[in-house]
Amino acid sequence: MTAIAFIGLGNMGGGMAANLAKAGHEVKAFDLSEDALAKAKAAGCAIAGSAGEAVEGVAAVVTMLPAGKHVQAVYQESVFAHAKEGTLLIDCSTIDVETARAVAEAAEDKGLVAVDAPVSGGIAAAEGGTLTFMVGGSDEGFERAEAILKDMGKAVIHAGTNGTGQAAKMCNNMILGATMAATCEAFALAEKLKLDPAKFYDIASVSSGQSWSMTSYCPVPGVGPKSPADNDYDGGFAAGLMLKDLRLAMEAAETANAKVPMGSKAKELYEAFVDDGHERKDFSGIIRTL
Ligand code: NAD
Repeated sequence: MTAIAFIGLGNMGGGMAANLAKAGHEVKAFDLSEDALAKAKAAGCAIAGSAGEAVEGVAAVVTMLPAGKHVQAVYQESVFAHAKEGTLLIDCSTIDVETARAVAEAAEDKGLVAVDAPVSGGIAAAEGGTLTFMVGGSDEGFERAEAILKDMGKAVIHAGTNGTGQAAKMCNNMILGATMAATCEAFALAEKLKLDPAKFYDIASVSSGQSWSMTSYCPVPGVGPKSPADNDYDGGFAAGLMLKDLRLAMEAAETANAKVPMGSKAKELYEAFVDDGHERKDFSGIIRTL
């Protein structure tokens, strides 16, 4: 079993750290929130007084922080100064590709091994240990990370070199944002054309309009398997997080000089939805605006 520092015990990190402790790892946890620390303690983690203290002497450091600037700050201010040579750094946060590559390079200069390992799956998957990890890094980094990530997820996939885990995450979520918006507008149009939504679901879910947004996460209440639509669009994947991921994808597209007209339209739609005060609503709730 491995000695692991876990920094960032929020909605996602809390459940993930608990699963590492449950699997028998020695987890040293740190977060700025006292509440998050108390939950981690109850889940069997040892509590550190600072990020630096958590990192002291461990073999691996997992971070699950809000955005790139937090990862950069925690690495620069705490991890690099306290991690022993050869320590594996696994950043599971969703951040921009450029920052992911920059921190990995800085880590390597310090004799550390870094991978980006963003996740697919929400809070329930973090708690249930069924996340999918997409990992960017060297073969050595991936192999070492896989041994730890498997205790928090159902799939661990090596995407390529550093930053490609984040690239996979944002490209996947760009498809998700665009297909959800398209699925919502199709249901809205179908209804206006006097087609019953349940009938449309029966037809489109076995036709070429099928997608995950339709058959696993149908945005219409009472249609298809249970989804946040059946819970007044509460829980699930917050529209604010979808917007964050779409913005990251647009930034990456600009840097890479890629054309992303559908992703760009999806970003516009989610921007308007969030500006209207729906940041915390599930992203499929956008159907109400169409
Ligand atoms: P969150 O805001 O609930 O948790 C982030 C935690 O980091 C907070 O507890 C905060 O106190 C802590 N933190 C911030 N700065 C810190 C610092 N300097 N030192 C120590 N702790 C610090 O966010 P979350 O929902 O857990 O998401 C984390 C990451 O996972 C984000 O990048 C998000 O985009 C990504 N993600 C979230 C979901 C989801 O459904 N929530 C799904 C997939 C990916």
